Amino acid sequence: MGCTSSMWYSKTVDEALSALQVDPAHGLSDDEASSRLATIGHNELEERGIKSPWAILWEQLTAIMVVILIIAAAISFLLGETTDAIAILAIVVVNAVLGVRQEYKAEKAMAALKQLAVPSVRVRRSGALVSISARDLVPGDIVFLEAGSSIPADGRLVESANLQVEEAALTGESVPAEKEWAWQGQENTPLAERSNSVYMGTSVTYGRGMFVVTETGMRTELGKIATMIQSVDRSPTPLQVRLDNLGKVLAVVALILVGLIFVLGLWREGVSHLRELFLTSVSMAVAAVPEGLPAVVTIALALGGQRMLVRHALIRKLLAVEALGSVTVICTDKTGTLTENRMSVRSVVAGGKRFDLPVEPATLGQSPSLAIALSIGALCNDAQWTKAEANRKTKAIGDPTETALCEGAAELGLDKVRLEQAMPRIAEAPFDSVRKRMATLHKVTSDAPVRWLVSPGEPAPAYVTCVKGAVDGLLGVCDRILVDGAVHTIDQRHIDDTLRTNDALSSQGMRVLGFAYAPLNEPPQETTVGKLECHLVFAGLMALIDPPRPEVNDAVALCKTAGIRPIMITGDHPLTASHIGSELGLLEHGGKAVTGLELEAMNEDELRRSVGHSQVFARVAPESKLAIVDALQKNGEIVAMTGDGVNDAPALKKANIGVAMGITGTDVSKGASDMILLDDNFATIVAAVAEGRTIYDNIRKFIKYLMTTNSGELWVMIAAPFLGMPLPLLPLQILWMNLVTDGLPALALGVEPPERNVMRRPPSKSGESIFAHGLGIHVVWVGLLMAVIALGAGWYYWSHEAAGSNGATRWQTMTFTILTLSQMAHVLAIRSGRDSLFTTGIWSNRSLMLAVTATVLLQCALIYVPFLQKVFAMVPLSAFDMAVALALSSVVFWAVEAEKFVLRRTASQ
Ligand code: ADP
Ligand code: MG
Repeated sequence: MGCTSSMWYSKTVDEALSALQVDPAHGLSDDEASSRLATIGHNELEERGIKSPWAILWEQLTAIMVVILIIAAAISFLLGETTDAIAILAIVVVNAVLGVRQEYKAEKAMAALKQLAVPSVRVRRSGALVSISARDLVPGDIVFLEAGSSIPADGRLVESANLQVEEAALTGESVPAEKEWAWQGQENTPLAERSNSVYMGTSVTYGRGMFVVTETGMRTELGKIATMIQSVDRSPTPLQVRLDNLGKVLAVVALILVGLIFVLGLWREGVSHLRELFLTSVSMAVAAVPEGLPAVVTIALALGGQRMLVRHALIRKLLAVEALGSVTVICTDKTGTLTENRMSVRSVVAGGKRFDLPVEPATLGQSPSLAIALSIGALCNDAQWTKAEANRKTKAIGDPTETALCEGAAELGLDKVRLEQAMPRIAEAPFDSVRKRMATLHKVTSDAPVRWLVSPGEPAPAYVTCVKGAVDGLLGVCDRILVDGAVHTIDQRHIDDTLRTNDALSSQGMRVLGFAYAPLNEPPQETTVGKLECHLVFAGLMALIDPPRPEVNDAVALCKTAGIRPIMITGDHPLTASHIGSELGLLEHGGKAVTGLELEAMNEDELRRSVGHSQVFARVAPESKLAIVDALQKNGEIVAMTGDGVNDAPALKKANIGVAMGITGTDVSKGASDMILLDDNFATIVAAVAEGRTIYDNIRKFIKYLMTTNSGELWVMIAAPFLGMPLPLLPLQILWMNLVTDGLPALALGVEPPERNVMRRPPSKSGESIFAHGLGIHVVWVGLLMAVIALGAGWYYWSHEAAGSNGATRWQTMTFTILTLSQMAHVLAIRSGRDSLFTTGIWSNRSLMLAVTATVLLQCALIYVPFLQKVFAMVPLSAFDMAVALALSSVVFWAVEAEKFVLRRTASQ
């Protein structure tokens, strides 16, 4: 390469290509590309990697609660309580290690998601068109662009057709810049005016192009300023914000309670126990504040994102994981999402006759109209028609509608490559979903294929325009029609006939396209849309079938039981849309689609009413999608909306969850989305909703668990002085429960499998209180029950025993053990919010069984290992005492099972 100048815009295409040593028709060879990659490195911006375990450890250790504990340890140490001090520090370390392990896991999960968000690009390598990761681009690569592509590296245009690029990231200018390969720059042209160059981090809004990569990675213009970095957004979700606020409220409440306990303690025990009281107060503060909650929620969301990935839903914003659970409406495209996007031409109607494919190739000779329609389909077409060397079979790559047209023409011997050699394309007006048409202008170099275009004896035209698109709109720009091999001026009867055929084919669920052309003797002065698409000859129509995806029927049914309304929004014909809609159970048979035109005529009230009950919207332009989302949201719905095109970006941003298509979606739509469907499949959205609901359920479960535990401890500590007892739990015991035995079961609740009824109940209301559905009451009453049992037993033992050695007492050991064990009983009972544990199956969450077993063993270690006994002031319990503790703790389990039993009874009435 040897070219160090970065002023590529002042070079001609040939200079740039030869400096980069590449032939655009062939691209770099695979070997050359890998050797360049080895010397230059990946095409990526350097950014802060994932947090190191040490950084996470530091954050954990500087959390406020931990700092308080460390100070408490220091004070204990100064007061001569060395054992206490060391034990507190040990607990802090165990807690931090558990925390770091979890957070690091979550970090890695986020980083993996981010990796997947790297776009892929279409390049020419070793003569073939391939799709590679943008990371692997090297200078010299030949890259193809189309509307919606994001530009993956800096480069010099080699080809362009009406190319427009949005460069706001670099220039701040939000109006798209027009790009033209032939433009020649001077030295020092400002970046915003370099029309022959494209830059990383910008995106194509219109047109097509091809460029040669000049700079990659940190050497790009974007790399130089390195501001905009592609990343998974981790801004806090509404739930996280609410939990944060809850934490603050609880902290205040805790302080008041702790003050109360301090005063009660002073009243009971006098100043002689000031040290112990101090430690007790600190431990109680730790007990009352669920400081681990926000972290556990983040971990649950991040790991949930990873589980969704297994189901082909890539989460771009953590928010989506949470919002998915409360989705009430899913607005979906038709093509590719509800259908397979495997199109094929079924019928051609041309020259007044209908041909159902396949037909004999000889038919072509008998019907010039058929040949013309098929040729237009192959010429006005961006699909790449390539010959795979291996099996000598040709196949088309590109948009499924267009590949189907190529293949349809080829079946009758009309090869796209040969047609294009005879009639090379010299200009075009690309397809856009508002016009619903595409036009190309061709120069006629050999007249063989175009003989059909003119009556025998007439000379072949010098140029031909080819147009294809939605029939209704296309007829509006045609003034002639081809019937029985002759061109007639179009009249109302022709139009009515054509529209009738169009409707008949559409109502069978087929996608119908019209084809038109215009022979020209001189090229049009301008190649704008308006100049290309006028005075056309209507040649015929073709109907393509695109079978519905088989799994969508079940997914639609699932939506209905789950209280979610699926809505189809498509650019296709209303009859095609309603046919597919009723086939998939979206629309009752005989139901009608609302059209984009009808939508535009509605005022706001009518629109809100219409979106409230209509299931299928057809011939909708992307702007109307935005209006639909808006109206739905005003109706109070939580909307998930799919989209693939550039114009869909505003609607995707506006929707509560913007869903982009992983396969057919443009980079721009992906950038605007919260979630990407890697398989483009509607059923995947529904699966992600189920996953989102499960995650929300599980978050509620561990909130329930942690807060009930805390409430139990608090009741025990507050009630004891009123019974005339000393403080039942020692500071170390409280810390142990809160920082060690609490954590494992809570995390294990986060991977609880979905509830049986997860998709058989209405969505949770977004923004509803965490304490809704009886959670708050549960926390209070189960906490009280735990306290009554533990303290009751403690009271019995207390009034029957004398103090043991080391100040350790059997009654305190019993109270502590019963509390810990009843927490285990509780966690088993709340695994499902509805079903009994015996329905759910004891082994269906192995991590939880493991966590419970580990916690019970740890508790036994405290009771029976001499060294730990001493530190935690425990008395070894007899087998009888242990049996009593177990029996009493299980009461909590049965009580919560009874609560669920009542719930099931009342719910089924
Ligand atoms: P959908 O919502 O089903 O994805 P599109 O916006 O892709 O709908 O297409 C809308 C209409 O535009 C189609 O019914 C068809 O008539 C026309 N159309 C689609 N693709 C092309 C194309 N590549 N060239 C010309 N017209 C097209
Ligand atoms: Mg489409």
